Amino acid sequence: MKSTYETNLDNLFEAIEKARLNQSEHHIVDIVAISKYSTTNEIKTLYEAGQQSFGENKIQDIKLKSKQLDKLPIRWHFVGSLQKNKINNLIDINPTLFHSLDSLELAYELDKKLKIKNKIMKCLLQVNSSFEHSKSGISPDDVLQTYRNIEINCSNINLKGLMCIGANSKDKQNIEKSFKITKDIYDKLRTATILSMGMSGDYETAIKCGSNMIRVGSKLFTKETIN
Ligand SMILES: *Cc1c(COP(=O)(O)O)cnc(C)c1O
Repeated sequence: MKSTYETNLDNLFEAIEKARLNQSEHHIVDIVAISKYSTTNEIKTLYEAGQQSFGENKIQDIKLKSKQLDKLPIRWHFVGSLQKNKINNLIDINPTLFHSLDSLELAYELDKKLKIKNKIMKCLLQVNSSFEHSKSGISPDDVLQTYRNIEINCSNINLKGLMCIGANSKDKQNIEKSFKITKDIYDKLRTATILSMGMSGDYETAIKCGSNMIRVGSKLFTKETIN
């Protein structure tokens, strides 16, 4: 019999398959399982069900969980806001991808510390495309310039693309608008290959708008099977 997590994964695959085929059969979508509310045992169970990329939003959590699970070849993503005094901690964890680089100032600071440790980090620039004050990220008008600035001046940051969090709204059109704004900027960046958009409640909309990496937490870790 399948475990609940296997069923959750199967249901997610099925929904993604539909959403991505509406784009193109060449449109591939990566899943990052956001484990911020989950224990290491739950992560292990989902890993055994076939999920290999996991994401956390707090430095102390990614540090602890990646250490406890260091026998598994999990790809760890960091999706939370990074305080300057935690930069070295993140560098030492050596994440697969840092999704939430949200200011030029942070980029310069991160690059400086990466150079000292002789490390390279793959990052996404976070865009505040919902224009919500509670959200961090670069304002859409400044993204292109900031992106170029980092590419030119921060040689130890390997920028791979953009990330955004969909508008916090019940109105699907508002959510779609925030994704479309991000996609439009992404299309102008010839070197970008990753567009990280979409969570449990809005990943289908995000894929429709061109997302190729979704960050799904509650839908994967729920104990009840929801379709
Ligand atoms: C928590 C979180 C997610 C996942 O949210 P769910 O609604 O549980 O899928 C995705 N991205 C970020 C940045 C998060 O903090």
